[in-house]
Amino acid sequence: MEHRQKRLIKASVSESVAKLLGEAQKQYLKGNKERSQSYVRMALQHIKKHKVRVPEEYRNAFCRKCCVVWVPGDSAKVFFDRKHNCLRIECRKCGFGKRL
Ligand SMILES: [Zn+2]
Repeated sequence: MEHRQKRLIKASVSESVAKLLGEAQKQYLKGNKERSQSYVRMALQHIKKHKVRVPEEYRNAFCRKCCVVWVPGDSAKVFFDRKHNCLRIECRKCGFGKRL
């Protein structure tokens, strides 16, 4: 496949990934948690299949492990990690965490 064509596909994939994640957040806030999880799952499938990056604004917006939308104070815990001297976010559902 031509390089330019590949780039075009990637651009449209990341666009739909952003849309899916945006929709996931909306559904989560509406209380449709299962639906929001399936949107995140779909987005992650696109990300893996096409090897695109997670859009910047959604980098810390969901759990990569259990596909839950992260809302600080609700589905995610944000705290200061003294040991590593950094902020961490942790999934309340599966315990998966990452540095911020
Ligand atoms: Zn999780």
